[in-house]
Amino acid sequence: MEFGYFAPQFGGNVPALETGIYNMEVIKTVKQLDEQLNAFRHSGKSIGFVPTMGALHPGHASLVQRSVKENDITVVSVFVNPTQFNDPKDLENYPRTLEADCALLESLGTDFVFAPTATEMYPEPDTRTFSYPPIDSVMEGPRRPGHFNGVCQVVSKLFAMVRPHRAYFGEKDFQQIAVIRAMVSDLKYDIEICPCPIVREESGLALSSRNTLLTPEERATAVNISQTLFRSVEFARQHTVSETHDYVVDHLNAIAGLEVEYFEIVDGKTLQPVSGWEDTDHIVGCITVYCGQRPVRLIDNITYKRA
Ligand code: AMP
Repeated sequence: MEFGYFAPQFGGNVPALETGIYNMEVIKTVKQLDEQLNAFRHSGKSIGFVPTMGALHPGHASLVQRSVKENDITVVSVFVNPTQFNDPKDLENYPRTLEADCALLESLGTDFVFAPTATEMYPEPDTRTFSYPPIDSVMEGPRRPGHFNGVCQVVSKLFAMVRPHRAYFGEKDFQQIAVIRAMVSDLKYDIEICPCPIVREESGLALSSRNTLLTPEERATAVNISQTLFRSVEFARQHTVSETHDYVVDHLNAIAGLEVEYFEIVDGKTLQPVSGWEDTDHIVGCITVYCGQRPVRLIDNITYKRA
């Protein structure tokens, strides 16, 4: 059992872009997707899939690189899914950079980009509801009503359209992976869910498409989030779960421009709060902080203990 600091992965370690000729296709419709993928499906090629909302950065790139390495074919979707935004302003402000995204994806060896319109994804309003308590009843669940429902709506559709063997998700959205696993098990999809480590800037700030919404000053302030999480791992060696919780929250709330929405120290599997370090063998601290004027909602997490 390990207890302590898990070296973060930094954005700088994404290999320099290779130059080469890739025949990446940008696909807009489900019909085209089937036309392109059927031959690969029939010949038994493995398909890796990376769902994204675009505005890609090295965090996304790390998922794509892994998929390219582990599969014959890699499909990346770029779709800003309206049903997972509980705040219309957030949806409106979400960065959209499809051209730059495609250039990056091509350089990484992506085979197909699936960039559907909202009508292609939702020809009819999606009235399905997904609920996976207790995993989705904590942290992001109650604070973003409808968010995980929207995530399940879009990911279940994308899985049915792409029919991948493996799907890659970032541990930055720690709770999302648990919800996706629950959904895959519920819907009996035969898809391997592959979690990938958080990619960070050299400063420690977790890469996020939302970071582009921060001013340079706000970005400098946001660095305190990961730095405090890293320090809390050291603190945790000599203190209780509750003391470690307060250490993080009090420290961050004392910094002008930051406001912690929640920090929960949870069992990495059930996502339920733990009260002692010996409660379970995988313990993760998940945080959401509002940063700056707008403000921008940033999430991050840190592993305290892993089997
Ligand atoms: P998004 O475009 O924000 O929906 O993210 C698409 C995928 O990229 C999700 O699985 C995220 O968890 C993952 N991702 C986003 N940021 C990072 C990061 N800094 N490190 C690793 N994965 C990330």
